[in-house]
Amino acid sequence: MKVTQKREYQFLPYSRQHVTQEDIDAVIKVLRSDWLTQGPALPRFEQELAGVVHARNAVACATGTAALHLAMLALGIGKGDVVVTTPNTFLADANCALFVGAEVAFADIDPDTGNMSPEALAEVLARDSKKRVKAVIPVHFGGQPVDLPAISNLAAAHGAVVVDDACHGLGATYEHEGHTWHVGGSPHALISIFSFHPVKHVAMGEGGAAATNDDKLTARLRLFRNHGMVKEGFLNDDMATSPEGTVNPWYYEMQQLGYNYRVTDMQAALGIRQLGRLERSVERRNEIARFYHKLIGQRFEPALVKPLATRAGVRHAYHLFVVRIDFERFGVSRATVMNRLREANIGTQVHYIPIHLQPYYREVNGTGPGDFPDAEKYYAQALSLPMYPDLTDADCERVVEELEKALKTSRRL
Ligand SMILES: *Cc1c(COP(=O)(O)O)cnc(C)c1O
Repeated sequence: MKVTQKREYQFLPYSRQHVTQEDIDAVIKVLRSDWLTQGPALPRFEQELAGVVHARNAVACATGTAALHLAMLALGIGKGDVVVTTPNTFLADANCALFVGAEVAFADIDPDTGNMSPEALAEVLARDSKKRVKAVIPVHFGGQPVDLPAISNLAAAHGAVVVDDACHGLGATYEHEGHTWHVGGSPHALISIFSFHPVKHVAMGEGGAAATNDDKLTARLRLFRNHGMVKEGFLNDDMATSPEGTVNPWYYEMQQLGYNYRVTDMQAALGIRQLGRLERSVERRNEIARFYHKLIGQRFEPALVKPLATRAGVRHAYHLFVVRIDFERFGVSRATVMNRLREANIGTQVHYIPIHLQPYYREVNGTGPGDFPDAEKYYAQALSLPMYPDLTDADCERVVEELEKALKTSRRL
């Protein structure tokens, strides 16, 4: 049992990447090739990603945040428009609306799942009598599919589109009317956003993508990814064409205000390798989740410590494993529990601080405590335990054991 003992002292972060020798070799191969960026690895990665999520197209870019920005640009969202997202997500979902001069509004969550509540969204839309809401950005929080069909119906009836933030949801599926839909390729969202930050399912260092079934939007996503520049379909015909009637070999043309949101071929090559392991990795995450559920059920009263609820008919991608803990009833603060776990070499995190409570949004949106009570109630109790495919069953046992110790030890003054 020497191996087990050694692992006992290993730090378990809340999430971490898995990189193999073959992954490293694939990156080195690109480094020795002619193309470090805009080479053959990029379109291959985009094709493989589109295949995995069952989308027609995928456009890879620098980060998930860049993909959100590109989606807003491609949809033509701007000044005067409103984008609705959830307060229980990463900052970028709100920020992307502001990047393009639009405003952001929030729809509260279902505290049992952490996902946007369709009922709360319906209320937000009902108040929007001027129909300024142009897009809704729900998040598959923690990897559990949000109720996209319900959200998509509400948005459509309001004349708004759905851009789902699938940064947690790569590999997730949901049933709807007898059909299994893949997050990222379903008809219930127009564009789906992915991130390949190392804590996510697929690690590329940094990286992101937007997937869509719409060819026109794909072209616009590509346009804004690369300075708004085109290499065909020119507007300045006279400048583009030589006296011989052929396209001038040097010619490029800027038609929109775009960005450099490209991703390198080293990253794409790493992404291709990582995507190849996605199925197994999501399977292992589900195994870990089942084991956590069992261990937590054995040790704690459900009223005091409970994992987030899972909706029927979904395949969870388990980017995160979030438990809700009644810290008040334990008489111990979350900070103390996290610090004690850290001393026991266990990393935890809180996903997320409600965006409407960030000083920036308090200032810009005039929001504050009490505005989204379910997100705030959820936030007070949430703790993300370690979740990644390399976690062993023994690691999970240790996490739950240490959590029990951290909660039960009387308060330190
Ligand atoms: C990671 C993440 C993002 C941003 O992705 P980056 O690649 O870090 O820019 C956006 N939304 C959610 C829900 C995320 O988890």
